[in-house]
Amino acid sequence: MRIKIITLLLGAISCLISTTTFAQLQTGKDGLPTTKDPEVTEYYTPVPNEVSPGLTPYASPSDAIVLFNGSDASAWQNSATKAASEWSVASGILSVVPGKGNISTKQKFGSFQMHIEWRIPATVTGKGQERGNSGIFLQGLYELQVLDSYHQETYVNGQAGSIYKQAVPLVNACRKPGEWQSYDILFTAPVYSPSKRILYPARVTVFQNGILVLNDFYIQGPTQYIGMPAYTNYDGTGPIMLQDHNNPTSFRNIWIREL
Ligand code: MG
Repeated sequence: MRIKIITLLLGAISCLISTTTFAQLQTGKDGLPTTKDPEVTEYYTPVPNEVSPGLTPYASPSDAIVLFNGSDASAWQNSATKAASEWSVASGILSVVPGKGNISTKQKFGSFQMHIEWRIPATVTGKGQERGNSGIFLQGLYELQVLDSYHQETYVNGQAGSIYKQAVPLVNACRKPGEWQSYDILFTAPVYSPSKRILYPARVTVFQNGILVLNDFYIQGPTQYIGMPAYTNYDGTGPIMLQDHNNPTSFRNIWIREL
């Protein structure tokens, strides 16, 4: 009985203390603004940088790094040899020259927003993975697939808009071969511990032709053709790599914003 009374008393005291504290916050007796003042939830710094948008939603904004402007491919190099890119540049378009190898940006990136436009040749032959296959390797490791998936069948985690063999696009947003398509990519870099263990995996959101195809997907590790992915890169940054898959796929209007 005595224990019951003590418990009730303690409960009453606790309730009294919390009520008092709440009342003080409401009335401002402690010298702080009351929670009823709108200014409490308004602040003025840090001020966001001003960025001038492009003339169209796909045009590079003022703070973007332009990776290909239609004529200058000097931001790119052969991924393996580090020699100058041997992909073709003509009529404002950067195209795979089959056999000339993957190309990578000379610059490395952590987290970023990126825009890129790509086109499968109008006349495309073959089936499945042979139809205009290329890819955009985020940080040189995680492949966002480029492929003709317009009324075409392949494994769904290998079609256009997939993170190759990891993520199936939410929808198939492909245009016909010969038509320009776009990817708008939001990539969040992976985070490693000082002991080089993965703390937070990379994440990616992708719009294809303005349509959401990947929504904050947690990337499982660098893309693997065979076997399961696993994180092995301890840097947390990397270049953008475009894939030579022996198909003459084209690119244009490539820009990136570091975050
Ligand atoms: Mg590919």
